[in-house]
Amino acid sequence: MKTETKCVQGGYRPKNGEPRQIPIIQSTTFKYETSEAMGKLFDLEAAGYFYSRLQNPTCDTVAAKICELEGGTAAMLTGSGQAANFFAIFNIASCGDHVVSSSTIYGGTFNLFAVTMKRMGIDFTFVSPDCTEEELHAAFRPNTKAVFGETLANPALTVLDIEKFAKVAHEHGCPLIIDNTFPTPVGCRPFEWGADIVTHSTTKYLDGHGSAVGGCLVDSGRFDWTKYPDRYPGLCTPDESYHGVTYTERFGLAGAYITKATVQLMRDLGCVQSPQSAYLLGLGIESLHVRMKKHCENAQAVAEFLQNHEKIGWITYCGLPGDSGYELAKKYMPNGSCGVISFGVKGGRSAAEAFMKNLKLISIATHVADARSCCLHPASSTHRQLSEEELAAAGVSSDLVRLSCGIEDAEDIIEDLAQALAAI
Ligand SMILES: *Cc1c(COP(=O)(O)O)cnc(C)c1O
Repeated sequence: MKTETKCVQGGYRPKNGEPRQIPIIQSTTFKYETSEAMGKLFDLEAAGYFYSRLQNPTCDTVAAKICELEGGTAAMLTGSGQAANFFAIFNIASCGDHVVSSSTIYGGTFNLFAVTMKRMGIDFTFVSPDCTEEELHAAFRPNTKAVFGETLANPALTVLDIEKFAKVAHEHGCPLIIDNTFPTPVGCRPFEWGADIVTHSTTKYLDGHGSAVGGCLVDSGRFDWTKYPDRYPGLCTPDESYHGVTYTERFGLAGAYITKATVQLMRDLGCVQSPQSAYLLGLGIESLHVRMKKHCENAQAVAEFLQNHEKIGWITYCGLPGDSGYELAKKYMPNGSCGVISFGVKGGRSAAEAFMKNLKLISIATHVADARSCCLHPASSTHRQLSEEELAAAGVSSDLVRLSCGIEDAEDIIEDLAQALAAI
């Protein structure tokens, strides 16, 4: 099936007489005839549902849709994008370990890595996405467990050279984890370029309507953990909390990583997505391919308008020839990137704030990738906790305005921008 068809029909194939739409299994628990049957589930000897903190059929059905879209072998939903990125790394790294990450990443992820996970004893080295292979090599240590980056960074909009990062990661025997939130699998499928694990904040375009917070983790099944048993003991040696199951032996490369994340991390940390939210997510994805096309068309028209406006100091949108991400975007996202644009209003922070106050159709919201156009000033909101130095490394200047073009008529969005700029 093509991507468009997977958006509509992926993950769920009802049999004769079954519901056409994904059923919402709003149940915490599942009934069994004997304790013995249930015991087998607890020992991972049989597959099945017993408690929705670990697995729920609605969530699994929607995860399967995203898995098909990304071309992976296994996937799971999480309660948020933050939980997905935390799980992606914590599943293979623990106290005393080290991770290499691109510096232009989402502010919340930066905080998770640089502050919270650091407190858990995991060290991060941040590298510029534009670094040379030599600079990237130099960031590795003997205890490095993974490399992380965003296909299209939020909000810096830098495009990651996925092949370059995958090549160097693999030379060090580490997987590449890619947060593919902004382009979605409609715009880019990182596994096709060598990435090993993909994460999503499904809160954004996948849901697409600003209705449910959620995340997803997808495994390509291609990273061979068993080549490095000392580096990945959690996947390659027995888990005593399951009577000595070795994940790579029992579930193979296709299932080991996601099974471990489900039965260990989800069991113990419980960052689940609710079946209701998963249902809304599944419904959103059915129109993802139609929406992404419109988001990209609108963003292109808006970017071209802003580019020539006398009150705009600079603009970043990888669909504009001459943009630093233009060539990479042509390679990794030939059918369009996303609907988010960042730009600076001449006059800096105060001009940006005055401009935003004048907007009528475009709302100020701590959100992106919504059907409705919205905008944000990251330096005073999502990236507020970062120092000037960290802001610069994250690619967020203090005048940066992040505009998320919705799927309204492009002329209406442009008219709103024009009147707000005219008023300052
Ligand atoms: C929003 C976002 C996150 C965090 O996701 P939540 O669903 O808000 O927890 C992570 N990565 C990127 C690229 C994001 O845009």
